[in-house]
Amino acid sequence: MRDQAALVAGVDVGGTNIEVGLVGANYEVLDRAKADTPTSGPDAVLDTIEHLVRSLDDEPAAVGVGIPGVVYEGEVLTVPNLSNWDGPVDLVAILGERLGVPVALGNDAGVGLLGEWLAGSAVGARNVLGLWMGTGIGGGLILDGRPFAGARGAAGEIGHVIVRAGGALCRCGRRGCVEAYAGRRSMESTVSTMIDAGRTTTLYDIRARAGKSALTSKVWARALAGGDMLATELFDTAVEAVAVGVASAINILDVERVVVGGGLAEKLGQHLADRIAEAAEPWMLQPHPELRFVAAALGDDSGVIGAAALGRELVTLR
Ligand SMILES: [Zn+2]
Repeated sequence: MRDQAALVAGVDVGGTNIEVGLVGANYEVLDRAKADTPTSGPDAVLDTIEHLVRSLDDEPAAVGVGIPGVVYEGEVLTVPNLSNWDGPVDLVAILGERLGVPVALGNDAGVGLLGEWLAGSAVGARNVLGLWMGTGIGGGLILDGRPFAGARGAAGEIGHVIVRAGGALCRCGRRGCVEAYAGRRSMESTVSTMIDAGRTTTLYDIRARAGKSALTSKVWARALAGGDMLATELFDTAVEAVAVGVASAINILDVERVVVGGGLAEKLGQHLADRIAEAAEPWMLQPHPELRFVAAALGDDSGVIGAAALGRELVTLR
């Protein structure tokens, strides 16, 4: 029989999917469930999380949730990449009440990095920058051997580091952010603008063949592998923007490891981490001699495992 207290559910809320895993004490994922992320707002997202957690093989002793937004003291303050999510939501209280177990909450990229730090490609490192490339660009920090969230939970937002003053419009409403050049949603609107301007690309054909409605990481990876010119140009621009942002962060924080995760890293793997490392090199002042850029090792599971670890703290501290 499984030790009930050792089982914790980790919930990874993404722009496209919500993934839930039942995680054991050694970070092993024992059961999983998944659904599309609802677009009608927080109520539907909470319903889906509740349903997915209840569908697991065993009842967890606690639940941890990673969400793509700014999180502070159990509340989700803003979630720019989820539709119809406007104001703060007291997710910990609502979900805790409904599920009858303690609930912990963190930013999705921070939680993904936590998973990689505990059980993936950042194990043993004391200072780590996480860079999560997907619908948006998320980030997380481990500093001095501890997760670092900042004064109000908003630290590590590498996607909104400005790399070009007055540059492209970002989804956060400001201009010149890394995400405006390297976030998949921003890149997709750039593709549409370029096509309107007369450029051609295989991206839309690949998207149709894959049966997708958006230019997913898989679609980008296939277009790049096929040598699509427009995809290659936009990807080069994305890598450059990310590299400038990451190098600036390294100049401030002096981390010894950069973990590249998210959908794009899953598809492109270490190649993506190597490209960013190479492009960042000229912008770094005095990098650690053993600084390494590595692809996330746990894939989709980094978010689930990291979120479960947050939940586990609630039951082990008792
Ligand atoms: Zn921004």
